[in-house]
Amino acid sequence: MDKCLFCRIRNRKIPSLCVYEDKMVYAFLDINPVNEGHTLVIPKVHAADFLSITPSELPGLIWGVQKVAAAVQKGTRADGFNLIVNNFRAAGQLVDHVHIHIIL
Ligand code: AMP
Ligand code: ZN
Repeated sequence: MDKCLFCRIRNRKIPSLCVYEDKMVYAFLDINPVNEGHTLVIPKVHAADFLSITPSELPGLIWGVQKVAAAVQKGTRADGFNLIVNNFRAAGQLVDHVHIHIIL
């Protein structure tokens, strides 16, 4: 059993509201949204934080974030959005599988 919460979500061992998935990323709604459409995008390969993502995983993650952000913005008719990545406890990171917040 995987110890990482977001690996378990990505492997569908824990339910989530998936909004997008491809070879590189999994995107799902935040369980405690700041506002409507608050979405998390994670790389499928485990990396604890932004500094731990390998060069081969990083482009796919960024492409995925751009795709999901465009769709979420369109779906919520928001005029803009923020991308946030908390890294390490001192910066508020609670889940040690890197995730990009899309907040409208
Ligand atoms: P962070 O503080 O950047 O590590 O954010 C962790 C985020 O994960 C928070 O916004 C939580 O609401 C969210 N979260 C925690 N558990 C779940 C879950 N099971 N499904 C969806 N989002 C979650
Ligand atoms: Zn993980």
